[in-house]
Amino acid sequence: MRQKIVAGNWKMHKNAEETEDLLNELIDKLPVDTEAQIIVAPTFVNLASAVDHLEFTNITVAAQNMHQNESGAYTGEVSADMLKSIGVNRVILGHSERRAYFHETDAILAQKVTTALKHDMSVIFCFGEELKDRQNKQHFNVVENQLRDGLFHLEAKNWEQIILAYEPVWAIGTGETASPEQAQEMHEFIRETIRKRFGSNVAEDVSILYGGSVKPDNAKEIFSKPDVDGGLIGGAALKAEDFAAIVAAV
Ligand code: PGA
Repeated sequence: MRQKIVAGNWKMHKNAEETEDLLNELIDKLPVDTEAQIIVAPTFVNLASAVDHLEFTNITVAAQNMHQNESGAYTGEVSADMLKSIGVNRVILGHSERRAYFHETDAILAQKVTTALKHDMSVIFCFGEELKDRQNKQHFNVVENQLRDGLFHLEAKNWEQIILAYEPVWAIGTGETASPEQAQEMHEFIRETIRKRFGSNVAEDVSILYGGSVKPDNAKEIFSKPDVDGGLIGGAALKAEDFAAIVAAV
């Protein structure tokens, strides 16, 4: 079943104390009666405390990344089993910052998705074109290739665990947002691409989030589009009031 979802990607922000403070503020300010799924993704070191803190709330916790292998000599990395063992059942994969700064390729991401699903985790799979792709009118091709190379190895039944997040790279952290029409146009294309490969049920049920400079003042218009099922929020997820307003807008 397609769901409204708002996820906050905290990136490399908030130490332990600041994490507690922001979680407390969120518990205070987020609407309790919303039907939307609310997800927050603090850094690895604060995940365990966030899970504890949010135990009796309607907010769930996601990791921002994980390694594709089960365990081994991968200094500095974190496995699916480790995340599961502290109660984290969701993971963001393929964020454009991971792709750009940490050289995560579609092939690596496909492995990460497989590993996450094997551990019964749900995945927020991020993808989106760069500015030059849009200028060269290659944005549909780029997105189609990212979906194909990252997710087309799955089976239809796996899709219950997948949330898509379309994030045009030129709109992330730049204050530049895709217009609601640009977002809808791409989300419709994404759903159609999924339909062609996995059929109508999967396409209709998958939630497709938009990400890239979503703020309280533009969220409602973007979320009102028929194929936009919520948002992946960066900067505005770090302020409880803003995040709560965005959740209220979905
Ligand atoms: P932003 O980040 O909302 O700050 O643009 C979105 C994201 O990177 O997920």
